[in-house]
Amino acid sequence: MPDPVIPYKIYLQENEMPTAWYNLRADMKNKPAPLLDPETKQPMTKEALSAVFCEELVRQELDEDTAYYPIPQEICDFYKMYRPSPLVRAYCLEKKLGTPAKIYYKFEGNNTSGSHKLNSAIAQAYYAKQQGLVGVTTETGAGQWGTALSMACSYFELDCKVYMVKCSYEQKPHRREVMRTYGASVTPSPSTETEVGRRILEMHPGTTGSLGCAISEAVETASKHEGYRYVLGSVLNQVMLHQSVIGLEAKAAMDKYGIKPDVIIGCAGGGSNLGGLIAPFMGEKLRGEADYQFIAVEPASCPSLTRGVYAYDFCDTGMICPLAKMYTLGSNYIPSPSHAGGLRFHGMNSTLSQLYEDGLMEARSVVQTDVFAAAEEFARVEGILPAPESAHAIKVALDEAKKCIETGEEKTILFGLTGTGYFDMVSYEKFHNGVMSDYIPTDDELLEARDTLPKV
Ligand SMILES: *Cc1c(COP(=O)(O)O)cnc(C)c1O
Repeated sequence: MPDPVIPYKIYLQENEMPTAWYNLRADMKNKPAPLLDPETKQPMTKEALSAVFCEELVRQELDEDTAYYPIPQEICDFYKMYRPSPLVRAYCLEKKLGTPAKIYYKFEGNNTSGSHKLNSAIAQAYYAKQQGLVGVTTETGAGQWGTALSMACSYFELDCKVYMVKCSYEQKPHRREVMRTYGASVTPSPSTETEVGRRILEMHPGTTGSLGCAISEAVETASKHEGYRYVLGSVLNQVMLHQSVIGLEAKAAMDKYGIKPDVIIGCAGGGSNLGGLIAPFMGEKLRGEADYQFIAVEPASCPSLTRGVYAYDFCDTGMICPLAKMYTLGSNYIPSPSHAGGLRFHGMNSTLSQLYEDGLMEARSVVQTDVFAAAEEFARVEGILPAPESAHAIKVALDEAKKCIETGEEKTILFGLTGTGYFDMVSYEKFHNGVMSDYIPTDDELLEARDTLPKV
């Protein structure tokens, strides 16, 4: 039977877009472990979390029973400006590779922030506004989250204070200016503005910063300013909830044409895009309705799933955030500055960690020169210049498609193309000039970082 003709790009109609986010935890038998108070080691209460986070977001964070959260109308309206995102059939890539595999990717780079992060930024800004807050604080690594949050805050007229990992602040002045265009203030982290920043600078003079450290600064600033709360663009379950819009749209688009993916691949930093992409598919797997292979792809220089331990850990270097049980390298782990793409976080979302622990998802790590080679191979055929983070998923999608050439299998591969790489041209330049290195931490380095794991 010939396949029905599948267009290069499948777009949903506006009336086919998801109207509720999906909370994967509702369908999990083994729920992720609760967040713990860093001092008492008792589960975090709603009240304690509300001192740092917005109330509605705390509710979403702690809720492991409600399967569907209706998306508020204002957020639906904002989504309509840049969603649905296209589900692309990579016909050109398949032809070029000569693979019998069918390759699809869900492209989230079609907005000014250049990534999927806007999906959660707009939700978080909305709830902050609903609560009557003045503004929010946050950290940003490569800059996508800060950009997305700046856009969302300016839309709802909220103040936005961004702590940007110092090496990115210096390497990516253009991202910084996009954020300022949307009215955010941007501070390189670690900074001397916060107690924790000063402490980290004393302990590690000349440090190029890390996400964990910028998180500590943003949390401290939120707690010291009336009317401010801290918001986070990855790692947390509320973020994964908002990002489920990616998977829900992808699944609706595939269902429309009767397509069922065999393998679903996503890059994994803190886990939000991967968690969002796989959510409705994983839900089917958990309910025993269908089976899929899921692959998380992480950098070899920051391999939390493939080489980390499953334990309670701090989400930040300053050790002031709640403890989460997750696959982690230790909150003191600072990836080598020679690591170019994002995905620098030391831990992994607790839901994905539990799914990985239960053998429901696989993980692979890849070195960065292979990642950039894959990015280039993809860009030259499919036209889109991918973000280095996204290229981790591309690398493994290409590997899988190439395997099908040998085996003759006509697998259907779906991967998440999380964003564009226009602000990452310094890294592309290093790759082109042959000066990019493949840093892989030694076992000793990983052991050392693990020393700071809290005793629970
Ligand atoms: C932030 C980011 C990622 C990684 O974050 P997750 O929370 O793991 O999704 C991946 N790709 C792009 C383009 C990003 O901006």
